[in-house]
Amino acid sequence: MSIRGGLCDAMGQTLTEKILSDHLVEGELEPGEEIGIEIDQVLTQDTTGTLVWLQFEALDLDEVQTELAAQYCDHQTYQFDFKNTDDHRFLRSAAGKFGAHFSRPGNGICHNVHKENFAAPGKTMLGSDSHTPTPGGLGELAIGAGGLDVSVAMGGGAYYIDMPEIVNVRLEGELPEWATAKDVILELLRRLSVKGGVGKVLEYTGPGVETLSVPERTTITNMGTELGATTSIFPTDEKTRDYLERLGRGEDYEEIGPDEDAEYDDEIVVDLSELEPLIAEPSMPDNVVPVREAAGQDVEQVIIGSCTNGGYEDILPAAKMLEDREVNKTTEMIVAPGSKQASEMLARDGWASELMAAGVNFSESTCGACIGIGHVPASDSVSLRTFNRNFEGRSGLEDDNVYLCSPEVAAAAAIKGEIVDPRDLADELGDLEAPGFEMPDVYDGSKADLIAPDEAVDDELVKGPNIGGVPLKDPLDAHLEGPALLKMDDNITTDHIIPATQDILMYRSNIPKLSEFTLSRVDESFADRALESDGGFLVAGENYGQGSSREHAALCPMYLGVEGVLAQSFARIHKANLFNFGLLPLEIDEDTYQKIEQGDDIEIVDNVDEAVRSGQEAFTIRVNDEWEATGYLDASEREREILADGGKLPHTKKQYEQD
Ligand code: SF4
Repeated sequence: MSIRGGLCDAMGQTLTEKILSDHLVEGELEPGEEIGIEIDQVLTQDTTGTLVWLQFEALDLDEVQTELAAQYCDHQTYQFDFKNTDDHRFLRSAAGKFGAHFSRPGNGICHNVHKENFAAPGKTMLGSDSHTPTPGGLGELAIGAGGLDVSVAMGGGAYYIDMPEIVNVRLEGELPEWATAKDVILELLRRLSVKGGVGKVLEYTGPGVETLSVPERTTITNMGTELGATTSIFPTDEKTRDYLERLGRGEDYEEIGPDEDAEYDDEIVVDLSELEPLIAEPSMPDNVVPVREAAGQDVEQVIIGSCTNGGYEDILPAAKMLEDREVNKTTEMIVAPGSKQASEMLARDGWASELMAAGVNFSESTCGACIGIGHVPASDSVSLRTFNRNFEGRSGLEDDNVYLCSPEVAAAAAIKGEIVDPRDLADELGDLEAPGFEMPDVYDGSKADLIAPDEAVDDELVKGPNIGGVPLKDPLDAHLEGPALLKMDDNITTDHIIPATQDILMYRSNIPKLSEFTLSRVDESFADRALESDGGFLVAGENYGQGSSREHAALCPMYLGVEGVLAQSFARIHKANLFNFGLLPLEIDEDTYQKIEQGDDIEIVDNVDEAVRSGQEAFTIRVNDEWEATGYLDASEREREILADGGKLPHTKKQYEQD
């Protein structure tokens, strides 16, 4: 079936359905049904990438199988000691050996560099970063996922996901002066909240689409992640063609869009002409109010940058507003371009020096301040940022006051020294004109920091002391027995299991070392006890594993020999990670949870391997050879096969051997 130019032979489809149909390898496009899709492009960054490549190596794969893979270094680019540098060197060698593009540290944020160089209409992309959906603004269906799913996709395996609902976000009208694309997504966050997009794809349609350029569209799709959406996507049109041509990639253009009679699961209408400058107050991206409601507060720091608003086109309006003006003496302003290409172009056309003359400091093109690495705000101060997240403490200051806004609102605050609606500042100053939106004739940054597979400088993996291996688990035994290694309360988070502090996460590429910190926030001696026991179970109350998608939270217990988790209930993503790393997740009732004591001897009476593979749901748990209870396994056929094979890595290896 074709998705091109309205030639699709199954009428009535949304753009999302068309791209999914074109890539479908398993399942049906019914909301909630599990589907498998083929992946065209893969993106990974440095904090998740080391494990992605170590897992790729463990799959015994020789070469990237997707059309394209790209490894970026943007999160941990500062070299506090050798560990980040070790990681970067390993990543360059992995990209070289296996056939991925490598973007050097400082070349830019993964989403910006990917958009500039590789994103293309109609493609599917999987990325080990939550803002992977950014290139939806030019018609790519891009989804964020765990590292192991990315490794498997890069090896040519399908990506499995429950079919999302598809919501039509119909844009009408045209943005008025001083309102921007950032205000479109802030308006959606104001209406829908940070949970409003969960289990959904947001597909943009309507006459307002053609009034927005591609960089404006990618600001919106980038921040669809804050709505919890699976992804967001725009159709393509002359604006998309024009953008790709300015990038020198006109040949990547394809016209794609929904059928006229496409049916959606839901519809939201946004009249662009009614929008005004908005701002997200601390400390959640959906705390959105008109800027006028927050006006008057002193601002000590303004930062323009990040994967949301770090493009040349995002910085230019601020530069125009600051031309022949100065940043207020009470305020510090930083510009961190999202890519080195943007920095280079701003330097070449003189806007960088204009900004510097106004009192702006430039930062390197990385995530940096967005994840609290540098430019931490002063205590008890207000910081205005053009970023996508303002979760409490993310700036590096525990009780911070971070606001999210457009570059125009940020620049207005830098001029005035306080939060101000730029329309009111324009009235006050008399000579401040709305900068409008402008793209360069051509994007002409150098490619010196982007190493293509055919320019690779390494053909062997380079592993310094910070790079470990990936442990592989054996298939499930017929007989599982061991002690209850740790009994925990309700709501144990992935942060409890593997803390995300810088001093611990720097061992993200060294599983033996990282495992020493497993559950240390609950019981400092847990790791030693688990290793000595060589087998055993974790016992927990409700909602075990809530929080992030961090796969280390399943991988490290597996490395320490844990065989399974008996819990009253599991958080969804962590349960998927337990399957992926071969740990048996059994649900137990309140009585059983209360009765089991730490140190009790646990035996699964059934032939576990056979029972898991055959679809058996109830398992008999014998405790201390004295009493019995029932544990339940809720898993799809595919998850059962993965679990029985010892996890997704050995399962995938087995599949490769059979093919
Ligand atoms: Fe994530 Fe911030 Fe980096 Fe974007 S700029 S990829 S949101 S850390």
